[in-house]
Amino acid sequence: MAYENGVLVYGEAKDGRLLSITGELLNVGRQLADSLGQPLSAALIGEGTAELAQEAIALGADKVFVVDDAIFAEYLHDLHVPAAVNVAKEVDPYIILAGQTASGRDLAPHLAFHLDTGIAIDCTALEIDSSTNRMRATRPFSGGNFRQVIGVKTQPQMATIRSKAIDGAAPDTSRTGEVVNVNHGVDASQSRMKFIESKPIESEGVRLEDADVVVSGGRGIGGPEGFEGLEDLAAIFDGGAVGGSRAATDSGFTAPERMVGITGVIVAPNLYMAIGISGASQHLAGCGGAKTIVAINTDEEAQIFGSSSFGVVGDYKQVVPAFAEEVKKLLQG
Ligand SMILES: Cc1cc2nc3c(=O)[nH]c(=O)nc-3n(C[C@H](O)[C@H](O)[C@H](O)COP(=O)(O)OP(=O)(O)OC[C@H]3O[C@@H](n4cnc5c(N)ncnc54)[C@H](O)[C@@H]3O)c2cc1C
Repeated sequence: MAYENGVLVYGEAKDGRLLSITGELLNVGRQLADSLGQPLSAALIGEGTAELAQEAIALGADKVFVVDDAIFAEYLHDLHVPAAVNVAKEVDPYIILAGQTASGRDLAPHLAFHLDTGIAIDCTALEIDSSTNRMRATRPFSGGNFRQVIGVKTQPQMATIRSKAIDGAAPDTSRTGEVVNVNHGVDASQSRMKFIESKPIESEGVRLEDADVVVSGGRGIGGPEGFEGLEDLAAIFDGGAVGGSRAATDSGFTAPERMVGITGVIVAPNLYMAIGISGASQHLAGCGGAKTIVAINTDEEAQIFGSSSFGVVGDYKQVVPAFAEEVKKLLQG
């Protein structure tokens, strides 16, 4: 595939809006394209995506390849993969990026297979090696204990990017670009799959991924009743949500979907409170992007203190209520 055709990112959209991963992909894609001196293209496959093309341009795309059809309203492997292959063949890019998301982790490796190329998955950083003009991909490895830097020897060079690993691009509405409607050539009647339904998981308040403040508890919380205090603390903050370590979710202290970490949700809030959490690398992989980490732990040697901006050595049963009182005063004040 051709160097001069630059970088192609597969954006994601739902319910008439671009998902945050699209801005993150466009941000890193823009950096790679600028390093190469080549264009950045975005593919938007879905229903109603034509209306989102300008938004993708504002986020950094030079060209947007739109596949807008009701058959793509929900991700279905049998439909999206052939459409994505057709777009890749039309764009003929040097580098292809997708999100390490529910749909991206299905789409991207299959796309790599159909394009007969290699792929670096679950990356947290990408750059161009200026001596070779090839992509260098950084990814956590061995449960987050190591970082690997790898390259793809074939072309197009492909990678998936972990959600929240990279900041989203800031929109610039003065940017202009080209929009190309692609004939996807997919016959929905040939699909072996059909979409039945998707149901949101019932949860109150803010989604963990979107929360500004995450109050997470670990094994040190001791049981579900201890999490009630964490719920109260999170509720004080506008945009607060409760998370947990794997030890806490596996023990049933809190719901499994609240697990933060390499095998759970990745969060990047302004404030992350790690309470009764030792700070295993697999947990930190899910919260290391937080602007400020505050740890509360009885063990002054706990690993979490090495990754936190502020730490309190003490029993959470005493520290959390006192902390909550002070926060309330400050917020009222
Ligand atoms: C492949 C793999 C993937 C994994 N993925 C994840 C993942 O995504 N997310 C994740 O979280 N883990 C993950 N783990 C597990 C991870 O390695 C740790 O075992 C787990 O994070 C530990 O949870 P914890 O910190 O709550 O428990 P512990 O390590 O047992 O720590 C409990 C902490 O609580 C403190 N404490 C005890 N009592 C109190 C008290 N009263 N007040 C304050 N502090 C107190 C203790 O000093 C201790 O530091 C994974 C492991 C593997 C092998």
